Amino acid sequence: MIEDLLATIVGVDHIDVGDQISEDATHDESLDGVPVRPRAVVRPGSTEEVAAIVRAAVVEGIPLTPRGSGTGLSGACTPVAGGVVVSFERMNRILEIDTDNHVAVVEPGLTLAELDAALAPHRLIYPVFPGEQSASLGGNVATNAGGMRAVKYGVTRHHVLGIEAVLGTGDVISAGGKFVKSTSGYDLTQLVIGSEGTLAMVTRATLRLHPRPEFHTTLLAPFPTIQAIASAVPPIAASGVGPLMVEYIDLVSMAGITANAGIDLGIPAEIKEAALAYLVIVLENHDPTRLEEDTEALAGQIAGLGSLDVYVLPDQAGTQLIAAREKAFWASKANGADDIVDVVVPRASIPSFLDRVSERAAATSSLVIGCGHAGDGNVHLSVWQPDPDVRHTLLHDLMTSGLALGGAISGEHGIGTQKAGFLAELEDPVKLDLMRRIKAAFDPHGILNPGTVFDPVGPSGAGGATGATGPALVTGAGR
Ligand SMILES: Cc1cc2nc3c(=O)[nH]c(=O)nc-3n(C[C@H](O)[C@H](O)[C@H](O)COP(=O)(O)OP(=O)(O)OC[C@H]3O[C@@H](n4cnc5c(N)ncnc54)[C@H](O)[C@@H]3O)c2cc1C
Repeated sequence: MIEDLLATIVGVDHIDVGDQISEDATHDESLDGVPVRPRAVVRPGSTEEVAAIVRAAVVEGIPLTPRGSGTGLSGACTPVAGGVVVSFERMNRILEIDTDNHVAVVEPGLTLAELDAALAPHRLIYPVFPGEQSASLGGNVATNAGGMRAVKYGVTRHHVLGIEAVLGTGDVISAGGKFVKSTSGYDLTQLVIGSEGTLAMVTRATLRLHPRPEFHTTLLAPFPTIQAIASAVPPIAASGVGPLMVEYIDLVSMAGITANAGIDLGIPAEIKEAALAYLVIVLENHDPTRLEEDTEALAGQIAGLGSLDVYVLPDQAGTQLIAAREKAFWASKANGADDIVDVVVPRASIPSFLDRVSERAAATSSLVIGCGHAGDGNVHLSVWQPDPDVRHTLLHDLMTSGLALGGAISGEHGIGTQKAGFLAELEDPVKLDLMRRIKAAFDPHGILNPGTVFDPVGPSGAGGATGATGPALVTGAGR
């Protein structure tokens, strides 16, 4: 029995079977996913244990699903029935904070909140901040997490200098290191980043850190249309002040997130009535005088870009608004949203994309609202459309429109199990075939996270890829 084998690897206290398996391990936070009970949940404590788990799974033909904090929004850590979840919660140590090289070396189960708390006393920051701070660094690496600060700092891909990882054979590789660049063969670190647990299990990451700016200002600018906001973003990005965040929030979303958080931003009624969308900009600096100068200059510039007004929010209100924006997903979930879309387009194409969104929403009698990282073209939409077929058509149209504008079907949350069917349908078959061959090289037995990215296998996989040419899951006789 695989359970006995796994128990000898990690110890009986670190494997859950049957009723011991928590409901939490059966799903992530995606809205449309169907929970799947795994055969076991195993919690390794070291790279050697992860490698031994993979070797055992290969022999027994058991699929493995890596799991960080389960905050993903695409069903990527949804288990496979009969498979085993590998939870990294015990591997959560900070191995090193190297203040000379501005680098941290961490285990994958460490959360962003834990890392941030440890870096603050050193006046350093790991600036990748997707909206959910309980997310793990392993999950961030596997999804190439982005977030509101990407417009200034970039995403996970720009901050992971190296990894240690266990391949689908049980072999352990170490790639990259405490340096920004090398030209020594293919960059395996970058290949694993964003691979959603389908190529390797990340057991260690070397992260690039930055000095931690202490002073922040939040500007809020109501606009008469989202199109006006989108037109204002390129000049703001070119202003030279290097904003930390440039977020747009549509009228309905703003009402939802401020009501949810109990915030009153004190905007006069006549402005509120005329505003259809808001731009939120956060500036940061190490020097309060320079921050004040930048704030003044940018506020003046925004006023000339078609905004109805510009407010510099008091510190507390600014912090509250950003925290509420981070929780926008939870507000949509609480209000019964049926799905979310995270298409990315070149930022100058946001108006064209949103025109198409309005048109398709009206044509299908759906409610589609949202906010997004306007500075880098990431549009996050919440969709209310109870009919699954109509919803599928709507999502398909929105993704196709994003692609036609030079974008991608997922800018942030990943393909997971939920968009695997869309990827199979909409992505270039030559690229898909190449991806499958890369997967086969890392994971020749096809045991790592099957159903994610390719060939959805769960109930949410209806409409998934057909004619798979990639590695088939080995079904071991000894199971
Ligand atoms: C409110 C909210 C807001 C969010 N905002 C953003 C946002 O702005 N930007 C953004 O990018 N994302 C956002 N997300 C999505 C999510 O937080 C990120 O995808 C995050 O990176 C997932 O981390 P996790 O630890 O929860 O991973 P999980 O959900 O546990 O897993 C995600 C993927 O990583 C794989 N994985 C986990 N650990 C490992 C490992 N050690 N080795 C290999 N594979 C592994 C899993 O198999 C799965 O494929 C948001 C989520 C929520 C709930």
